[in-house]
Amino acid sequence: MTTNPTKAQEQILDVLEKHVSLYVLSPDPSLILVLFTVGELYDLDAASLQLKVIRYLEKQTQSLCCCLLLVSEDNQQLSCQVVGHKVLKTEISFPLTFGQFGQAVEKRQSISLQDVTEEEHKQLNSTLGFEVLSMLCVPVECRATSKVVALACAFNKIDADRHTEADEHTVQHCFRYTSSVLTSTLAFQKEQRLKFECQALLQVATNLFTHLDDVSVLLKEIIAEARSLTSAEICSVFLLDVVSHELVAKVFDGGVVIDDELRIPADQGIAGHVATTGEILNITDAYSHPLFYRAVDDSTGFKTRNILCFPIKDGHGEVIGVAELVNKTNGPWFTRLDENLATAFSIYCGISIAHSLLYKRVAEAQFRSQLANEMMKYHMMVSDEEVTRLLTVGIQCVGEIHPSFSSFTYTPRSLADDSTPSAVISMFEDMGFINTYKINMNTLARFCLMVKRGYRDPPYHNWMHAFSVSHFCYLLCRNLELSKYLDDMELLALFVSCMCHDLDHRGTNNSFQVTSKSVLAGLYSSEGSVLERHHFAQAIAILNTQGCNIFEKFSRKDYQRILDLMRDIILATDLAHHLRILKDLQNMADVGYNTKDPQHHNLLLSLIMTSCDLSDQTKDWKTTWKIAGLIYKEFFSQGDLEKAMGNRPSEMMDREKAYIPELQTGFMEQIAMPIYKLLKDLFPRSAELYDSVTSNREQWGRVSHKLDVKGLPDNISLDYLDAEFEQLQNGQTKDNDTNTSFS
Ligand code: AMP
Ligand code: ZN
Repeated sequence: MTTNPTKAQEQILDVLEKHVSLYVLSPDPSLILVLFTVGELYDLDAASLQLKVIRYLEKQTQSLCCCLLLVSEDNQQLSCQVVGHKVLKTEISFPLTFGQFGQAVEKRQSISLQDVTEEEHKQLNSTLGFEVLSMLCVPVECRATSKVVALACAFNKIDADRHTEADEHTVQHCFRYTSSVLTSTLAFQKEQRLKFECQALLQVATNLFTHLDDVSVLLKEIIAEARSLTSAEICSVFLLDVVSHELVAKVFDGGVVIDDELRIPADQGIAGHVATTGEILNITDAYSHPLFYRAVDDSTGFKTRNILCFPIKDGHGEVIGVAELVNKTNGPWFTRLDENLATAFSIYCGISIAHSLLYKRVAEAQFRSQLANEMMKYHMMVSDEEVTRLLTVGIQCVGEIHPSFSSFTYTPRSLADDSTPSAVISMFEDMGFINTYKINMNTLARFCLMVKRGYRDPPYHNWMHAFSVSHFCYLLCRNLELSKYLDDMELLALFVSCMCHDLDHRGTNNSFQVTSKSVLAGLYSSEGSVLERHHFAQAIAILNTQGCNIFEKFSRKDYQRILDLMRDIILATDLAHHLRILKDLQNMADVGYNTKDPQHHNLLLSLIMTSCDLSDQTKDWKTTWKIAGLIYKEFFSQGDLEKAMGNRPSEMMDREKAYIPELQTGFMEQIAMPIYKLLKDLFPRSAELYDSVTSNREQWGRVSHKLDVKGLPDNISLDYLDAEFEQLQNGQTKDNDTNTSFS
């Protein structure tokens, strides 16, 4: 029964309608129900706000209990945070398809208990914790968006068996004024939650990323985190074995790691389905799901109620595993929130698992390479007998090796291969290194033998090249009084660098390493001078080998210095480096060498190293000639490899295009002659070297008129031109030494 409002009431109503929309009117206009003021509503958290609204609804609709079912943003789910006077510890949520709730949202129509099936009624009772005798459920629209944001529910009308139309109006009326505050408060709450989730996920990421070194520990961590994030009873993680196409579980809940891993086909069951589709699967009732395999539960007595199964993908979106969460502990099933959390969590899992597997592979590769290194070292090992044999003859005097051993005209390549280690020791002795640095003879012998063994056998870049380069260094020390220009340590570094400067050369150049993506390029291409860095690394490896460290008696400082010098000197053998410093070298030659200038020391060391490296060009014509044969044999086999790889070799590496006399003339004019010219400018005593190179260049000029052969003939040497050579030699014999035969 409605009564007319009094005059005073009418006045208040008027003011309220015009100015304070948050006052709510009862359907009975005689009752002005002051629910709350503006100040009371704002700044409330979502739960407190709901408590206030619910209290009002309960009172006005005469209901035992009321609640708000909030519609998720994607319209898929309903959730409830406050029931009656109770704020739930964990909110209840269920799909919008439950009962007629979805209809209520979609059609914006109120529903009652009659719209719920018996089964759903039972579930409602158990969820709410009391028996629902009557229900009124009214859609709540957001005024700004006109979207249904919640369902306001009133349960168990007091003193009546059902709610009335008036009750429905009361509810609608209430939300006409409160829905905006409600939506903005809920949005704020959502934001807060997101922030919290982000923080939780960040913590998860930190936890996961600190366990990358062991996949089992990482999986244990993932299982623990996944369970606690979603409140699941059990979690299993499977990794996909792409080879056998199986899902593999090795670590089980509770951190149990089993030896015999569990393997299931990668396309069967719930996990298989998720692995195949890459989609998350949220199963609210496991037993009614067609993919659920019930036999395990039947045999173990475990009851699987619900499952949330999500894929774990790598950075490229490929599925690398699957995580299966079983039985939500604080709710009837896994919620949309759990799905969102799982999706975000799976990204961290994917990255951390992929990194962990990569870490494992890298560690394995490292062990394999260590093993290969150990094996190589073992096979490279110089035996005590070899060392003894080398030392028994004693240190030969250089003059005994050959009367002109210390002369520029001597061709070290004429020495027999097995006499070279002893000749190296003789040079060490003759330069005073053994005495100055108190080098242990046993160590020196072993070092020399190891360095020799560290060379492979390509046509040119072999030990004989290193030996002849070292010999030239000895010649410069002897004949140019280098000790006036460089200190003892620099000279020692220079000589040892000459010995080591092409260690483990493979007969292919730097650009080949890069284009063929060789292991060496993988190690050093970012720094440039790939081969030279490897030669230096090999030198260090030999020094680090038991009984080979000729610098063992050095102080820490001297040891560091000699290694630094060796690195710079060996890196200077890259002709690209030489060309970079050419201007500085020219400047130094112009202004004159200054012993006090460290920059001059560095430049001179580089120049001397390069002069040694190309020293074949300073020998007699036959040497130059033979060396060209060796160099082009090596160049052409690189060219052949490049062709086989589908690349076009440079002209000098292409046996079908290279015209040796012309290429050699170019090499000598552009590279070799300027080097020995610089040397001559700095050391007038070295003039004969420049003259010799110039004369060899002229010989190439003469030969080029007689030759029209491209590449090398079948026997891969220039010997076929020997007759030609003899002819050319006649009448223009140089003051050559007798020792011109070498292979
Ligand atoms: P290395 O590899 O340390 O011996 O550096 C010397 C460089 O000079 C290498 O790139 C050789 O290929 C190059 N080289 C030496 N002698 C000759 C030659 N006669 N003709 C062309 N290139 C040469
Ligand atoms: Zn070299």
